Amino acid sequence: MKPTLQEVLRQIPSVDTLLSSPEIQSILGEAPRWAQVAAVRQAVNALRQQLVAHPQQAVDILSTLSARIATELASLLQPSLRRVINATGVIIHTNLGRSLLSQAAQSRVAEVAAHYSTLEFDLDAGRRGSRHSHVERLLVELTGAEAAMVVNNNAAATFLMLAALVHGKEVLISRGQLVEIGGSFRMPDVMAASGSIMVEVGTTNKTHLRDYEQALSPETGAILYVHQSNFAIVGFSTMPSPAELVALGHRHQLPVLEDLGCGAFLNFASYGLHPEPTPKASIEAGMDVVAFSGDKLLGGPQAGILVGKAVYIDCIRKHSLARALRVDKFTVAALEATLRHYHDEQEARQEIPTLRLLTLPVDDLWKRAKRIKRRLHLPDHLQLNLIEGESEVGGGTMPLQKLPTVILALSSHQQSANQLEQTLRLERHPPIIGRIQANRVMLDLRTVLPEEDSELVAALNQFNSGS
Ligand SMILES: *Cc1c(COP(=O)(O)O)cnc(C)c1O
Repeated sequence: MKPTLQEVLRQIPSVDTLLSSPEIQSILGEAPRWAQVAAVRQAVNALRQQLVAHPQQAVDILSTLSARIATELASLLQPSLRRVINATGVIIHTNLGRSLLSQAAQSRVAEVAAHYSTLEFDLDAGRRGSRHSHVERLLVELTGAEAAMVVNNNAAATFLMLAALVHGKEVLISRGQLVEIGGSFRMPDVMAASGSIMVEVGTTNKTHLRDYEQALSPETGAILYVHQSNFAIVGFSTMPSPAELVALGHRHQLPVLEDLGCGAFLNFASYGLHPEPTPKASIEAGMDVVAFSGDKLLGGPQAGILVGKAVYIDCIRKHSLARALRVDKFTVAALEATLRHYHDEQEARQEIPTLRLLTLPVDDLWKRAKRIKRRLHLPDHLQLNLIEGESEVGGGTMPLQKLPTVILALSSHQQSANQLEQTLRLERHPPIIGRIQANRVMLDLRTVLPEEDSELVAALNQFNSGS
């Protein structure tokens, strides 16, 4: 007679029995005690759930447990936040950590992590200072603004700007600029959360200056201009220029605020790339406050940067939520080092990884790809071809810009692309993240750092040992 579920469950050994069994001990090896106990407990719970969910299934209890304990232990013993090789071709990949830091920024972070610092200490005066001071001078210099401050990210910067300057007042915004940046950042929601009252003007594709003019009322507190960073309206469309909005706002004594999104500091057009508006141009156009990200096209740490007129920046700094959204010392250190590179455009382009990856000539990628291919020893069932492709900027910036690239296209007549992708992602150290297209795994070299080429070769050659 088939055993009942209760009888099967009773066959699962206890955690203590398993921990002292020689068979399991050989799997657990020298792992610390907490990890041994946790791995066995999690494996037992998982098996129990599996048996309850599929009572008809025949299961070899001990071998299932052994396998499960081994994988649980491996995952417990490595950090959850791990480095990966980004072979997706998306440069500012939000899920993979957006921008990488320059060497200088990395060392500054390590230094303030290991030592006390002048985070809020004025060395000259020997008393308390401001954490904003370290980057304010640089930001003022680079953008031409009167004042600057930094918070956690651009979502926080935009929120704080609205909360501090236009709480309880109406803010005019074009219907073409009610953007969603991904996740929970949707302009109408951010405005509502900040306590400002959204007044939509114009239409999705066409908004005229007169639309703003007609919406002005005694309740109007500001005009908000939002950069359509992650999408483009092409064709039959109109939008007043930032300078026109500034003129209108200032005629009515209203601040004109901008959420610029990506925060480009270089003139990308001179590298043959899509021109992106810069904070400097916005300040020159007369914007009162401009908010942008630190880890998109700027290429620094996650941060939200606010630059603009001193009266407004002061007011934002004094808002009660400024403390809740303030940046830590690692951000200040990394941002200062990143901004310093921009004193010299060539230095910025060479040292800041995001800019380097964006402007990598495709010829260099071909050279590396051929060198990689020469070093490969793949089993017969695997095919690797070098093909032309297109990388993306990502991070909700330059949505129409495609960058020519070289792809290692991997396929097998024994395994599906899904299986190959999974092997590279789960069974390689560091994991390699690619994408699947037309039953091939596509590994885009543009976002693989040159110093990672050897790891990529080793990871691919590992297929030769059947793993
Ligand atoms: C990216 C972006 C944001 C959000 O910036 P985070 O730094 O990711 O918080 C807000 N507004 C615009 C227009 C953006 O492009």
